[in-house]
Amino acid sequence: MTIGWRFDNSYSKLSKTFKEDIKPTPVHEPELVILNEELAKNLNLNFLGIDKKKLAEIFSGNSLPDGTNSIAQAYAGHQFGHFTMLGDGRAVLLGEHIDNKNQRFDIQYKGSGRTSFSRGGDGRAALGPMLREYIISEAINALNIPTTRSLAVVKTGEKVVRENLLNGAILTRVASSHIRVGTFQYIAATQNLEDLNTLVDYTIDRHYPEIKTSKNKALDLLSLVMERQCQLVINWMRVGFIHGVMNTDNMAISGETIDYGPCAFMDQYDPKTVFSSIDKFGRYAFSNQPPITKWNLARFAECLIPLIDKNEDTAIKLATDLIDNFQNIYEDKWLNMMRDKLGLFGKDKNDKKLINDLLNWMEKNKADYTNTFCHLMDINSDEIYKNNDFINWKNGWKKRSESNNSTKEKQIKLMKKNNPIVIPRNHKVEEALTFAENGNLQKIKQLLLVLNKPYENQENISKYQLPAPLSNKEYQTFCGT
Ligand code: AMP
Ligand code: MG
Repeated sequence: MTIGWRFDNSYSKLSKTFKEDIKPTPVHEPELVILNEELAKNLNLNFLGIDKKKLAEIFSGNSLPDGTNSIAQAYAGHQFGHFTMLGDGRAVLLGEHIDNKNQRFDIQYKGSGRTSFSRGGDGRAALGPMLREYIISEAINALNIPTTRSLAVVKTGEKVVRENLLNGAILTRVASSHIRVGTFQYIAATQNLEDLNTLVDYTIDRHYPEIKTSKNKALDLLSLVMERQCQLVINWMRVGFIHGVMNTDNMAISGETIDYGPCAFMDQYDPKTVFSSIDKFGRYAFSNQPPITKWNLARFAECLIPLIDKNEDTAIKLATDLIDNFQNIYEDKWLNMMRDKLGLFGKDKNDKKLINDLLNWMEKNKADYTNTFCHLMDINSDEIYKNNDFINWKNGWKKRSESNNSTKEKQIKLMKKNNPIVIPRNHKVEEALTFAENGNLQKIKQLLLVLNKPYENQENISKYQLPAPLSNKEYQTFCGT
């Protein structure tokens, strides 16, 4: 019986500046909580027939698969605007698994023990937050948004000390890589140009091979990363996702969503929505996500300056011109994304106003972001949509819809591709986690099934569609737990 691991560990072959060679710290009594069979299959891995005890040994890091060469990666980051040297303080990268299509995936254990980057932390993670990452990352994937994935969660059989004593856990995270803006910041901070060149070449090889032979690789890399991260944040805005901690160490160069700490989905539309307990000034509020993406890209650009041009002024000008264009690219993409949400074909000079009028109405009337678009797709209704201002707006929308020789059928088809019917509602996620903490995985499994098909009008899902009761308004999320 073979699982099918095929490791090839290119990152671990980089020089020692990039990482620490380290193994997961064995845990006392691991127990498998959840395994993502579908993802395993996509990775050409087969865990069927392997007993639960053995699986727990594998996914806790007590027994490492053959071919791994585990490391903790070094990186830095601007956390809430302040630069810090960081690194994997509670994670190890086992290596890169290669699937049958020769695609390369990082396999990482999160919560696997202390490393030289732990900075006083215990290197561990708690069950609730690891299951939360599992649920939300899988939901984001099902929403067709690039993301790291979750392969398994095990309980360690050990307690972790937070405000209370909690069950320890380890999450197996799968990513196209864990190279972050912060990885570049770390290497740039060492001022070793050779290492910086190595990182640029490595990243291009792995994520952007189309610019391998380009004349200005660093500038082209900046441009492509900008495009991917811009597209990512557009997707977040489309589904009402608030990442919550867009520090530069949590921005993947691949353009995948990474680091599911304090993230959450917005119910009532309010651009100022913040869930994270530590985000006192709303730096990472819903509507701040695009400008923060740009800010983070500017930090990325700073790292690349020495490679963009020998003349620093020229390099700065080239990078600045590029980054300054973020706003235009974003607004264009945003407008098109919102047109798709409203099923509008073609372009009309009044589209922006039409869209903003709807958003303003939602904000003023505390309408649910997801459910308002569902209402426009004739899925569900609510008293709130009998409001006169809304009816007037809807008439304008209908008129605009008819202006482009499109059919209602085509319009609904476009809308259904872009508007989720279910999202991970905060209270449903919390409910599932509470059950799981008490050893009952039933609710999580049901929730995952529903979230797996967010664009389908599934049977009996009304309880997953309701926003949290207003008593949940002060819902708070937490980092690094
Ligand atoms: P995060 O808030 O998850 O992005 O983590 C920021 C930094 O803190 C990263 O370098 C993490 O590795 C580190 N970190 C978070 N929690 C722990 C922990 N319990 N022990 C050690 N390091 C941690
Ligand atoms: Mg992080």
